[in-house]
Amino acid sequence: MEAGFTTGKELQKRDPVFGQLSFDDHEQIVFCNDKDTGLKAIIGIHNSVMGPALGGTRMFDYANEWEALNDVLRLSRGMTYKAAITGLNIGGGKAVIMGDAKTKKTPELMRKFGEFVHGLSGRYITAEDVGMETKDMDLVRDVTPYVTGISEERGGSGNPSPVTALGVYMGMKAAAKYQFGSDSLAGKKILVQGVGHVGETLVEYLTKEGAVVFLADINHEKLAQVSQKYQASIYTGEDLYTADVDIYAPCAMGATINDATVHKIQAKVIAGAANNQLANENIHGAILQERGILYAPDFLINAGGIINVYAELAHYGKAEITSKTQNIYDTTLEILNYATANGITPHHAALRIAQNRIDERKIANSKK
Ligand code: NAD
Repeated sequence: MEAGFTTGKELQKRDPVFGQLSFDDHEQIVFCNDKDTGLKAIIGIHNSVMGPALGGTRMFDYANEWEALNDVLRLSRGMTYKAAITGLNIGGGKAVIMGDAKTKKTPELMRKFGEFVHGLSGRYITAEDVGMETKDMDLVRDVTPYVTGISEERGGSGNPSPVTALGVYMGMKAAAKYQFGSDSLAGKKILVQGVGHVGETLVEYLTKEGAVVFLADINHEKLAQVSQKYQASIYTGEDLYTADVDIYAPCAMGATINDATVHKIQAKVIAGAANNQLANENIHGAILQERGILYAPDFLINAGGIINVYAELAHYGKAEITSKTQNIYDTTLEILNYATANGITPHHAALRIAQNRIDERKIANSKK
């Protein structure tokens, strides 16, 4: 859940779906319900101008349906811009399943979800997100071809997280180059919040380069394990947002840059994997800029995962996945330069360029 964005009460004041703040011209929203398996899911298709909507499925124990709806709307919109800025011929979509993945996820529930995806006849193609694993996508594959991120044994691209981590690392280096004059991360103090699938691999890249890495995670077991494996310190301060570090890498959930944190952050660069890091992209992005903190747009630098699963649709191999992901370095620098030249935030620069591509494609599509 993208905590801190709007409360359940605030959401309820608006019209249920089309009136949501996050609605932002979604093309289609599908509510999926199955009593037998306990499935309650929402699929959001934000925009399909560039191609079928591709985006992962998140399983999370949302406090209520409003939060689940708000989350899927924000996430699917993000996918539209992520695909467009990365130059992929796909649109933006996302799905959420309500419930604790640890206790409520069953093979029957995953297959039933797959049937709902299948019912959309390819307008939405799913993949994994938080709470999902490759084996869950294999279960979805049992009932529909409209799924990516399936296991390599079944002809898929496997777990996308290591590729996402590579892209975040590239984006972080580019941001460091822009902010500090060098892309070397050796000796830089970096706080990684969330050492899950993506965060752990990012920690590996960072420690290999000689960065001074601090770790934070609510899963204490995982935290201790990653700390020991990469000889990285666990952050012990009371409030991680006040940490005296050069770079803050949000790799847990979204909206960690919000009213409560944005004025406290001491890092000079923010670059991480989490989706929708800015609770409010207009307000919090602008405050970061005023405070001289460089924010590398999340949907730009965390695109490695979508590049990896897109390879299954576009039929390209590992070398091309790696080169497209490494290209995030150049794209990030381009966006940062464009933002400065146009006097806008990096987030808005990336959105503007992505939107221009979508608009151009819409015109081209209409002439076909
Ligand atoms: P994950 O579930 O494997 O890891 C998330 C980690 O964050 C877990 O270890 C969890 O304990 C920790 N966490 C949760 N809340 C926290 C909190 N409040 N403070 C500190 N730690 C907390 O997820 P992941 O696949 O590594 O993805 C991380 C983020 O990156 C998510 O926001 C996801 O949407 C985004 N993302 C992931 C991919 C991918 O390829 N996996 C691609 C793009 C974006």
